[in-house]
Amino acid sequence: MNLHALHTGSCDPAIHAPEYVRGIAPYVPGKPIADLARELGLRESDIVKLASNENPRGPGEAVRAALLRTTDELSRYPDGNGFALKAALAARFGVEPGSIVLGNGSNDVLELVTQAFLTPGDEAVYSQHAFAVYPLATRARGAMGIEVPADAFGHDLPAMRASITAATRIVFVANPNNPTGTWIEPGTLEAFIASVPADVLVVLDEAYDEYLEPSDQSQSARWIARYPNLVVSRTFSKAYGLAALRIGYGIMHAHVADMLNRVRQPFNVNALAQAAAVAALADTGYVDASRRLNREGMRSLEDGLRALKLRSLPSQANFLLVGVPHAERVHQRLLRAGVIVRPVANYGLPDWLRVTVGLPAENRRFLDALAQSLAG
Ligand code: PMP
Repeated sequence: MNLHALHTGSCDPAIHAPEYVRGIAPYVPGKPIADLARELGLRESDIVKLASNENPRGPGEAVRAALLRTTDELSRYPDGNGFALKAALAARFGVEPGSIVLGNGSNDVLELVTQAFLTPGDEAVYSQHAFAVYPLATRARGAMGIEVPADAFGHDLPAMRASITAATRIVFVANPNNPTGTWIEPGTLEAFIASVPADVLVVLDEAYDEYLEPSDQSQSARWIARYPNLVVSRTFSKAYGLAALRIGYGIMHAHVADMLNRVRQPFNVNALAQAAAVAALADTGYVDASRRLNREGMRSLEDGLRALKLRSLPSQANFLLVGVPHAERVHQRLLRAGVIVRPVANYGLPDWLRVTVGLPAENRRFLDALAQSLAG
């Protein structure tokens, strides 16, 4: 092998990655606590992370017990069909198990839809300021992303409908949306889905649905029978508090599920995640308490931001988008104070920071550090 040639780039195997892969800007996750601790010589326990819309509570007792029980089975492959979890989800949503596809996070479900349905030259439609994985997954297939300008930071559904062409295969809708926290009420959303051509998939990403008040929570699983082109994606990463385990699911017409299962890795969801998810789904008290904690934390963050004369968008999720002058400078100062939030310039929002609702003490720590960072 000619190392010199490799180093000068003339024999770099990366040149053979397709143009559309080389053009991808990789996803930038929230900064891990351990990274900041290493960089600044801080103790991990002194750092507050409000950067990835995680549940601040840690797992409940039922989940811990399920995980311990499952350690006995670690030398076996997991159930590739996720029988127990699919049965529990099917009962919860009133659908057939064959309508459910499990994913390594709901991110995996989003990827699987693009893998099964997009080829180079196809189009996928999504909103400006919508979740970053839609353009990423679209581009990874060599397909074309059609970004529709937002309306008051939220999805402009009429404009999204108007941008569907004969080449469109998927329309992504995040409800509530990350990072804006905007939400579309069910009547408007269903009218939109009904207006989309029946051979175009609508991927409705409901990662934050459990944070909505129960009366507002989505009934979209029931819509699948009426709209076989609807794919609903959900996750255990947020209100269920299982982000580290990576488990999510999609609900869809069995014919669509069949296509996703053809491209899915045989064992894409590990045994610990499946067992924990079954326990988490049954523990409705945990989700209710998470929703209450979130609502209270959201109020205190909103009050604190108002006192600092900062604007935040009304949010239906577990985070707030905060308008901050010199956002990147403030972000860096917050990091030095041991508080990790999420810059969103890559979402076309350079003057904003996204902060996840934390525990009461974490919210106070953020507000104090923010006040200092603005003043300095
Ligand atoms: N959809 C939205 C809107 C999200 O914000 C996220 C997480 N940031 C995901 C999907 C993916 O989450 P996960 O893969 O952990 O289920």
